Amino acid sequence: EKPLVIALAGNPNAGKTTLFNAITGARQHVGNYPGITVERKEGCVTCGGHKLHLVDLPGTYSLTAYSQEEVVAREFLAHERPNAVIHVLNASALERNLYLTVQLLELGAPVLLALNMMDEARAHGWHVDSEKLSRLLDLPVSETIARTGKGVDELLAKAGEYARENTTGEWKPLTISYGPDLDPVIDEMAQTIERDQFLTERYPARWTAIKYLERDDAVLEQGRKAGDTAHKLEELAKRVAEHCRATLNMDPEAIIADYRYGFISSILKQGVLTREDRSERIM
Ligand code: GDP
Ligand code: MG
Repeated sequence: EKPLVIALAGNPNAGKTTLFNAITGARQHVGNYPGITVERKEGCVTCGGHKLHLVDLPGTYSLTAYSQEEVVAREFLAHERPNAVIHVLNASALERNLYLTVQLLELGAPVLLALNMMDEARAHGWHVDSEKLSRLLDLPVSETIARTGKGVDELLAKAGEYARENTTGEWKPLTISYGPDLDPVIDEMAQTIERDQFLTERYPARWTAIKYLERDDAVLEQGRKAGDTAHKLEELAKRVAEHCRATLNMDPEAIIADYRYGFISSILKQGVLTREDRSERIM
């Protein structure tokens, strides 16, 4: 039986390595990604009679090519198509951490959330309704305290089950709106990309279109190998950027970030994240 592959993704310091160690114990292997110094940590466990192969991805804040780590993480996801991706979040900084969740979902990855550092979140007076978050994002959510091992077994069971449901390698990208200035352009670019086999080999068309607007260096460079289509996309992206700067005094990149945070806050505001009134306890 081929083991199911489960990747761990998350911001640096969210507790990925602690969680990875809690799950795999001593059964792990540390190496490097070929040709670069980014560490690659892997381990195997059996859960519910199934073999699971876990990969601890490098810590990243986004999936745009700002750093080698981000390129490694997204290429791993796109090329190796893990059966599940555990996104480890620092629950005490939920809003900021969900920024990566949105990008993982836009890629189409089968994501489940580990709301880690629940002890920290509680100590800061945050109340997180993880069931509501699970319903609104339509994905499994677990609460964990990786440092003490709390919730880790439940998370692993959920991840194993989720991985078993995702064995076709067919991913379903989330579509969010980027507003009236960008949505029509993204659609137009995605249609152009869709017609080019080379450009749709790894990433969803809409995802690539957004990357052109974000001026993602790795995507631009890769696209140039496709020739004409990429040139057209770059020209279009340039015109849109000029338009956004002239009318909104903003780069497309900033507009995209704003809409992602808008999407996140619209979810959190539906009762997912509340702050306890601690005035009584302060006395
Ligand atoms: P990574 O960068 O995501 O791999 O994060 P690490 O696993 O290295 O953890 C970063 C720090 O957070 C370490 O000092 C951990 O001991 C600590 N940590 C991890 N999980 C938890 C948790 O659930 N609660 C608390 N309070 N600390 C944690
Ligand atoms: Mg780590």
